[in-house]
Amino acid sequence: MNEIKPKLELQPLPDQLRNEKDLVIISGPCSAETEEQVLQTARELKQVSEVTVFRAGVWKPRTRPNNFEGIGVEGLKWLQRVKKETGLATAIEVANAGHVYEALKFGVDVLWVGARTTANPFSVQEIADALKGADVPVFVKNPVNPDVELWIGALERLNNAGITKLGAILRGFTSQQKNGYRNAPKWPIAFELKRLVPEIPLICDPSHIAGKTKYLGQLSQKALDLNMEGLMIETHPDPTSALSDAKQQIKPAQLAELFANLKPRNIKGIPVTPEDPLQQLRNENNAVDYEILEALSRRMEIIEQIGEYKKSKNLTIFQPNRWRHVVEDRVEKGESLGLEDDFVKDIYQIIHNYSVKKQTEIISEDS
Ligand code: PEP
Ligand code: MN
Repeated sequence: MNEIKPKLELQPLPDQLRNEKDLVIISGPCSAETEEQVLQTARELKQVSEVTVFRAGVWKPRTRPNNFEGIGVEGLKWLQRVKKETGLATAIEVANAGHVYEALKFGVDVLWVGARTTANPFSVQEIADALKGADVPVFVKNPVNPDVELWIGALERLNNAGITKLGAILRGFTSQQKNGYRNAPKWPIAFELKRLVPEIPLICDPSHIAGKTKYLGQLSQKALDLNMEGLMIETHPDPTSALSDAKQQIKPAQLAELFANLKPRNIKGIPVTPEDPLQQLRNENNAVDYEILEALSRRMEIIEQIGEYKKSKNLTIFQPNRWRHVVEDRVEKGESLGLEDDFVKDIYQIIHNYSVKKQTEIISEDS
């Protein structure tokens, strides 16, 4: 396969960031608003045993101007108090070199790069340069656009600057198709990140995916089911009065309830012996996959012949009626075999794209 595998030199995240179930649980308000609000949230979160890191945004990237843009350096003093009083590690978002200097000066324990910043390599490089020589864990949220390369690129820039305690956060993507969420989760992009950078700890931020509180539980469960190593969830003592992201924040007590309803999963896995049912099933799956690939190869051979024929008759490659028929027929056949319509449709879209590509090559060859 001709893809460039990223080579990151990583060290494990500090144990202090993980709870008894080995999960990194970051919680706290979207924004630090007042000293009282920050300390009250932290004190209440201290009672939620799962939480290991206290978050608060002190510089806020707002979509539109004239909104609350964060309390600034003042908030860093409040975070120092949180750390002193509760022993929780503290985390903030950094978006430029100035933020990094201030965060390091005030001893913030964990930094994260926000989704809008990850999308901009100039900003990420500036942050990386400012971090040179520092030994601080940094989490990188996915970029707002669904581009895994940009996400990996940000991790690489930080790693090149000597940051080895890195993590990634899936917080969803700007998309037309959001299914009721604020940001489309696009789980396959997270799978791709883990395929390319298997050693990166990946956590999920259901707050920014959901944009509202009602989906937090189900998204958190899904993240754990998908082997993610932690969660970032926004909490506020009085969410309705929050100066940013009011709709998606929950009270610390509601967070405790959310955890009580979560089914923990074994994220470390188990050794799978050849006799294990899981291994047997995987073997069966491997054999079926080979059958699928052999069938696809035969299909592409037929496509080539069709391409030659269309060329000889000067026909167009794309024939709308035929394509409509193929989709309807295959979806119906799929249904009779117990396959979801969208699954079959998606597969045929990919197959059709490659068939068109092949025929385009044939038709444009000089004869
Ligand atoms: C946040 O965590 O409050 C935030 C601004 O997140 P994101 O970068 O995911 O939008
Ligand atoms: Mn927020």
